[in-house]
Amino acid sequence: MKRKARYALAGLETFSKNCIAAEQHPNDIHLFTPIGCPVCGIVPLELTIEHHSGSEEGNFKGMIFARCQTCKSEERVFCFTGEHRHPVREEKPICECGNTYFLIAECERIERDEGLPGFFDEGVITGLCSRCGRSRAFVYTD
Ligand SMILES: [Zn+2]
Ligand SMILES: [Zn+2]
Repeated sequence: MKRKARYALAGLETFSKNCIAAEQHPNDIHLFTPIGCPVCGIVPLELTIEHHSGSEEGNFKGMIFARCQTCKSEERVFCFTGEHRHPVREEKPICECGNTYFLIAECERIERDEGLPGFFDEGVITGLCSRCGRSRAFVYTD
């Protein structure tokens, strides 16, 4: 990974943890996972967010696909849905600067139960614009 990308990811980690108020849950575990291309590693990706029936603000249901800026391959990177749900609408995130490529990450809170890792509590999928460096939250999961 290039040094610039590593520096950007450190900022995205702080942003992501703030999104799910990590500092208010000091006893829980917060997992930050950058999402990359299986071939190219951590590079900017273009997202397609497919919202499924029952998807809500704060509780996303659906699938997320990502296209690699380098090799152009598209992969499904997240699946939060079930067989009883159906696609409702698609969203292609664009930064305020007009760019569609972001460094992507997932941040999850795992509740710690008497010192042992327990249940998934909530999470967020975030991105950092590869052109202007703005961070944003795409969807929250619960
Ligand atoms: Zn690639
Ligand atoms: Zn931007």
